[in-house]
Amino acid sequence: MKEKLLLDSILLENTMASLKKKNYEAACMDTCQDALQYLADIIPREASIGVGGSRTLDQIGFFGAFHRDAYPHFIDRYEKGISPETKREREIQALSADVFVSSCNAISQTGELVLIDGGGNRCGGMTFGPKKRIVVAGINKIALDLAAALSLAQNRAAVMNNLRFNTGNPCTATGRCMNCASTNRICNITTILHRAIPAESILVLLVRKDLGF
Ligand code: SF4
Repeated sequence: MKEKLLLDSILLENTMASLKKKNYEAACMDTCQDALQYLADIIPREASIGVGGSRTLDQIGFFGAFHRDAYPHFIDRYEKGISPETKREREIQALSADVFVSSCNAISQTGELVLIDGGGNRCGGMTFGPKKRIVVAGINKIALDLAAALSLAQNRAAVMNNLRFNTGNPCTATGRCMNCASTNRICNITTILHRAIPAESILVLLVRKDLGF
């Protein structure tokens, strides 16, 4: 529908303009294939690459293109058969990678990124350590302002993740975050990136598609 395309363009342009004012790099791609090609063009083969868990990256085909055969220093926390200790070592290694690639749970039109983590590896990688941090996010992650972005992250992404992992936490019954005290709580760390520091160390790659949650 023409109006939807027009509105999406306005949202994307507003968000990119706000992000750039806050020292992020920002780009927008129409398709998942374009987003994947963009990443392939800017990430050097010799770079060490860490990743945060992300349905979005899965959906754009990132893990099919980025792996150790193609990128020898890809830090694979998903390799089959590795022990929990090895996985943790690789997650720590990713915190000082040349490039850290992830998604986030929400982006405000005013230029803030919101992430909610269970254990903090993604929040850690996105805030300090890796020289270049790249966030890939679908248009569905864009919210009006910071309050709306926090609400989207808590009441949509966190709840969807609970449903995905069938945690039985209160939100899986109510459909909204109850800020529970469950021992099984999977959303323990909320990070807000207000600005990119150092300047242009974070690229936000927006995709004109609904991706992840
Ligand atoms: S804090 Fe509890 S209720 Fe809220 S989303 Fe997380 S697990 Fe669900």
